[in-house]
Amino acid sequence: MQQIIRQLLSALGEDASREGLLDTPKRVEKSLRFLTGGYQADVDEVLNNALFTVDYNEMVIVKDIDFYSLCEHHLLPFFGKCHVAYIPTDKVIGLSKIPRLVDVFSRRLQVQERLTSQIADTIRDKIAPLGVAVVVEATHLCMSMRGVQKQNSFAVTSAMVGAFRDNARTRMEFLELIKLRSAVPGLRDSAAARYECVGED
Ligand SMILES: [Zn+2]
Repeated sequence: MQQIIRQLLSALGEDASREGLLDTPKRVEKSLRFLTGGYQADVDEVLNNALFTVDYNEMVIVKDIDFYSLCEHHLLPFFGKCHVAYIPTDKVIGLSKIPRLVDVFSRRLQVQERLTSQIADTIRDKIAPLGVAVVVEATHLCMSMRGVQKQNSFAVTSAMVGAFRDNARTRMEFLELIKLRSAVPGLRDSAAARYECVGED
C-alpha cells in the first residue's frame, strides 16, 4: 500500500521524496487500515457475551452516537450522529455494544443508506426484536469540500423495521426522543436520501 501511496503523491504532482512526505505513505496506510478496520471486525465477536435475556419490552434508545465513515464514491469522510432504538421481545444487547456495532459498519467504505440499514438489519437478525429504528445524520465532505451543492451536504437517512415501520405512534415516540420530529415527512421517502453523495461526479 505504501508504494501505491508514493505513486499517488507523484501523480498529484508532488515530490514524494521530499522531507515532509517521506513518512506519509506509512502514516496514510496506518490511518486507512484504522478507518476501514470494520472489514476485519466480526459482529458475533463484538456482541459476544452481550446478549441478555430479560423481561423488558419497552423501547431501548441509544442516541447521539458519533461515527466517522468514508464515502465509497470519493474516499472522503462523512460523519455525524447515529440514533438507534429497538423494542426487545426477550433479548437485549449490552448498551455499550451498540456504538461498537456502529463502528463495525462505519469503518468501511460506505454510502449512508447502506450504513443505516446494515445497523438495523444486524440488530433485527441478532435479537429478533419487535422493532428496530436507526436514524443517521451526516455531513459529507465530498460535497461540502468540493463545493457541490454545499447546502445539501447534510443528509438524514433512516431504517424503520417492525413496530417502528408499522406503528406511527411508536415511530413518533422515537423521533420525539431524538428530537427529529421536524424531519419526519422526509424520513421514509427519497426526500432525505436524494441529498446523498452521488457517484457520477
Ligand atoms: Zn462521496
